[in-house]
Amino acid sequence: MNLNLYGFGPEGREQWIIVDLGVTFGDANTPGVEVIMPDPTFIAARADDLLGIVLTHAHEDHMGAVASLWPQLQAPVYATPFTAYLVRDRLAEAGLLDQVSLHEVPLGGRIKLGSFDIELVTLTHSIPEPNGLLIRTPAGMVLHTGDWKIDPEPLIGTPTDVDALIAAGEEGILAMVCDSTNVLTEGEAGSEAGVRSELIKLVGEQNGRVAVAAFASNVARLQSAVEAAEHNDRTVCLVGRSMHRMMGAARHVGLFEWAKPFIDEEEAAALPKNKVLYLCTGSQGEPRAALSRIASGSHRHVKLSNGDSVLFSSRVIPGNEKSIFALQNALVSAGVSVIGEKDRHIHVSGHPCRDELRQMYAWARPRIAIPVHGERRHLIEHAKLARELQVPHGFAPRNGDMILLCDAGAELVDEVPSGRLHRDGNILTPADHGALRERKKLGHSGVISVALAVDGAGHLRSGPEANLFGLAEPKEGFDQVIDALCDTAQNAVENMPKRNRGDERAIENAVLQAVRRLAPKIWGKRPHVEVIVLPL
Ligand SMILES: [Zn+2]
Ligand SMILES: [Zn+2]
Repeated sequence: MNLNLYGFGPEGREQWIIVDLGVTFGDANTPGVEVIMPDPTFIAARADDLLGIVLTHAHEDHMGAVASLWPQLQAPVYATPFTAYLVRDRLAEAGLLDQVSLHEVPLGGRIKLGSFDIELVTLTHSIPEPNGLLIRTPAGMVLHTGDWKIDPEPLIGTPTDVDALIAAGEEGILAMVCDSTNVLTEGEAGSEAGVRSELIKLVGEQNGRVAVAAFASNVARLQSAVEAAEHNDRTVCLVGRSMHRMMGAARHVGLFEWAKPFIDEEEAAALPKNKVLYLCTGSQGEPRAALSRIASGSHRHVKLSNGDSVLFSSRVIPGNEKSIFALQNALVSAGVSVIGEKDRHIHVSGHPCRDELRQMYAWARPRIAIPVHGERRHLIEHAKLARELQVPHGFAPRNGDMILLCDAGAELVDEVPSGRLHRDGNILTPADHGALRERKKLGHSGVISVALAVDGAGHLRSGPEANLFGLAEPKEGFDQVIDALCDTAQNAVENMPKRNRGDERAIENAVLQAVRRLAPKIWGKRPHVEVIVLPL
């Protein structure tokens, strides 16, 4: 979930720009929270001095938070056509389309925002229109790479604009803020062209239905799959909402004009098995995505069985192993063969490996290296690589670090608030808010609720009644333990000293303590206990 801030000007009177505004996704550790984003409190408090939000490319981790956070920022948004198309879609969903001024910038274009003169440099990555930014200021130039690799044959878009990078290097780059994702991998990421030829070959070897699972945003990969289908006389059928959404964006920028028309799921089901190729979402085992539904046999139109195959043209994102393996096991159980990047060359990364990083440093020759876009060990390793490449200064930042960039090097000058926000239903809430902690505790422990009504003298007038949520049934059965809980609650009230009986809080507390003592004897754990005392 990228959010970078650049500031220029005298202290306290800086002008600011945001580069990228992305999200990450929740997992089993954040029950009920699907989307997580950076907390923009620091810049929201300075929104009057925020000149613009510039997006490098359309991956979720770079633009997924625009619609959610824009209301706090209220600044114009700048993006190239493919990215702008997808942002517009999101703004429309959020009902913000007529409030946000969204500027479409051509590839290689320039944006002037106050003291910032920003030039877009076309790079290559795993999505159309990845842009590096040359950010010129009176204090020097920053190359903010965004996500990139060096693909001599990217299939979609032009190769890396090496001339622009070399020219900027000659002009003098003060600092390079650079992708660290693959710094632990030697060599090069590999070209999309290699994947295309392998997919063509591999699809040709199949006799049954073929499904290719890929990230919908990897439009070059979609193109490779479409070409593999056409080469092998198969018709393409898109499966999954984000496949259709991305294809819409791709066609908007003039891609896929050459492709034969795609067919819908019903038409595909009527074709002979060896005449169809499904392009599916869900390569990470996401439970609601198309491929999981196909694997469990619950997809309405797409059925795979003995002799069919699924090609996972994607990588296993760390953390997703369990759900991906469960998905693959389900497919194999149904007789479907599963082919992944370990079996055949059907995936390449979109991020630079060490040889590509060396090449980028040779072109840009920055005075300062600021590694970003990686975990701590990636950033540290990247800073070390930059030192080996004779970059005089480097700084591996932590979230919230404010770094002063000047000829003398990089200096940590401040730490600013930089938490996370959770999208919890339709509410944006700080990640350290107690709600999620409570929810997780309830998820583990279950709940006992006890309700009773008392009159002014503290005599029981109704109840107690007990209810259980999320608790396993003990040997003696639910009815029996509920009776025991009610007896315990009633005894607790009746055993109270008379003088305390008029006090509802004291009754509540007495019942609470008694039920809390009993519960571990029944369940061997401590459920959350909720007591409600109604005065009559
Ligand atoms: Zn990224
Ligand atoms: Zn990316």
